[in-house]
Amino acid sequence: MRCLKVLGSGGDWGDERQQELIAAGTLLPRGLHTLNHPMVRHAAAVYNGDPNVVAQRELIADTSDPPFWKVKSGRWRGAVWIDPNDGQAWLVDVGIRRADSPTDFYAAFLASLAAEGPAPFLPTADDRDRLKLEIAHERLRDWELSLYLQSVEVLLEAVETGYARGVIPTVLEGGVDPAILEIEVERYPGEWGTDDPLEQPAGVAVQLRVNNWADRGVLTRAQLIACSAISPYEQDWDAAPEVVGVRLLATVSEARLLYIKASADLDAGVVAEQVELGDLAPVTHAHLAKTSAIAAASIDGTAVRGLCGQWFVPRQDHGALPECEECLTRYEVFKAASAEAKN
Ligand SMILES: [Zn+2]
Repeated sequence: MRCLKVLGSGGDWGDERQQELIAAGTLLPRGLHTLNHPMVRHAAAVYNGDPNVVAQRELIADTSDPPFWKVKSGRWRGAVWIDPNDGQAWLVDVGIRRADSPTDFYAAFLASLAAEGPAPFLPTADDRDRLKLEIAHERLRDWELSLYLQSVEVLLEAVETGYARGVIPTVLEGGVDPAILEIEVERYPGEWGTDDPLEQPAGVAVQLRVNNWADRGVLTRAQLIACSAISPYEQDWDAAPEVVGVRLLATVSEARLLYIKASADLDAGVVAEQVELGDLAPVTHAHLAKTSAIAAASIDGTAVRGLCGQWFVPRQDHGALPECEECLTRYEVFKAASAEAKN
């Protein structure tokens, strides 16, 4: 926390948004060792426990009980302490190098060490709690990422064969796998009134076959992640994908399926950086379409085209939403034109 205060008010960040959050005192749930600041990146690279980089470590002269280690990056300097009990490295202080000045980082660090001893620099119970939280968060994130990649794999198999299934793994090692993910794909060629092969609609049904209801949170999360891999837009789904165990149907274009196929070759690291796992863009507006089309689509759970041109799956909860402006405008034009025709 002490280091973050100094880094947050200093420069050299590789990510302005992160600096803003840190300067405002907002902690990110991600591991602090992943922060995009050269000091953090360098400390994480040299003190990550990798035996190949141990030789790059350099002791801060005159420290031995306990030893503190140097971190240098550009004008920045830092001190690392390694917990003798578990080998965990902690960046415990940072500052700026000012050669031959008493305010030089290492001169100031050694002076406070001499005056107050090492205790103020060592991690507190809060720091250790924070570390536990980060490790748990990272484990959950790894599980979500593997689930997302697996959902894509099952989907792509179903695109070829019509049906595929895969195991949703347990979050904790040695636990019961909570569910089986089933995906069905059905094509409705010509349904959207276009010959464009990329515009052909497909129905993608998702269902979790639950083995273990013990952890509802895990099941809900798993279902959301599988759904977001298929379509991240809630308006493509026939029901809000929070209810576990029911069959959910999304209507997507052939273009969307091709896009998923193309992005399946992406590196897992790129997916982790770029995809908001399990995040669905909410339905914000009710679109207008022919009443008969809406009625039929509501029964089948398929998409209809709104007057504005947007495809959407009509759902019961749409009534509460504000109407789409573009749809309303086009409806007025349409009404005026048919009144004109009658006269
Ligand atoms: Zn609309």
